Amino acid sequence: MSVFLQNPTDLKAFQSLVQEKNNIVLTTHVNPDGDAIGSTMGWMDILIKLGKNVKGIIPSAMPAFLEWMDPQQQLINYRNNPEAANKALEQAELILCLDYNTLSRTDAVAEPVEESKAIKVLIDHHQEPDNFDINFSDTQASSTCEMVCQALSALGLIDELSSDGAACLFTGIMTDTGSFRYSATTATTFEMASVLIAKGVKPSEINDKLNNTSTADRVKLTGHALYNKLSYLKGERVAYIYLSEEELKAHNYQAGDTEGLVNIALGVANVEMSVLFKQSEEKIKISFRSKGGILVNEFSKKYFNGGGHTHAAGGVSFDTWEQTFERFKKAVDETF
Ligand code: 5GP
Ligand code: MN
Repeated sequence: MSVFLQNPTDLKAFQSLVQEKNNIVLTTHVNPDGDAIGSTMGWMDILIKLGKNVKGIIPSAMPAFLEWMDPQQQLINYRNNPEAANKALEQAELILCLDYNTLSRTDAVAEPVEESKAIKVLIDHHQEPDNFDINFSDTQASSTCEMVCQALSALGLIDELSSDGAACLFTGIMTDTGSFRYSATTATTFEMASVLIAKGVKPSEINDKLNNTSTADRVKLTGHALYNKLSYLKGERVAYIYLSEEELKAHNYQAGDTEGLVNIALGVANVEMSVLFKQSEEKIKISFRSKGGILVNEFSKKYFNGGGHTHAAGGVSFDTWEQTFERFKKAVDETF
């Protein structure tokens, strides 16, 4: 049974809010991924149909390969237009918190959301959620988009979803499950995917949009990373790649160009944890993936101020690469 049907009191309260509140703001995490944009655009589709004044805010730009999900560029990028986002948040009566467990994941959007008097409803699948006014948290769910499908079904709104809205929700399920391959993929995942396909989603078209739209530079960057930069620790149990800002620039790096790269080294039989370090002006962003018993959310939380899921997590370092690598080696020594 979905987390929505398990909590009839919360569901009823949420239903009344959706019916009664007119000014609704959708929020999601920084560096939004397919699940973040998908859950936001899925709600946008429904709430516009219901005649609501709905605004969606992203804390930073979305990667180019997801831009098709927001063809009318309805989403407000907080970094480009904080005035419009702040105004929407000031007027908000209801805020949906999608695909994040803690407000700090929304970067600069956190403060105006915190200050807002609106009722805040969390719909998310990450571990250890903070307390919002209503929490729909399901750490077993494959994706927030899967949960949004369940929410729309429970609210009797799923029939309102257009094929474009369905495509956005399908995309979030597809990206967060690695195309229905990761361990969080369940019967419910396929049931929700089935509902969306019945609404007109063509999985092969989504696959083309997500996976067959790379630039030649991106493919070359992947080759460079795997051929020249992939190294191992502890035999082959830990794989890591470091990409400096110069290397990224040399390959005309665009947001999203390293998406999926960290997963490739996990394909090496002996690798239990794969890590990508990506340098930008002010920090080194770290992506962790694992298979088997290594819990990368805990590893990331303990050593790199991050978190996420048991087998896919992220963190950050504000030190130099040399210092970051020393810390990483020590962390690996303590863990493996
Ligand atoms: P990615 O490596 O694709 O950026 O992120 C993988 C997972 O870790 C996602 O579920 C994402 O929400 C989470 N994540 C990524 N970066 C951070 C971070 O800095 N802090 C926390 N708490 N989670 C993160
Ligand atoms: Mn997600």
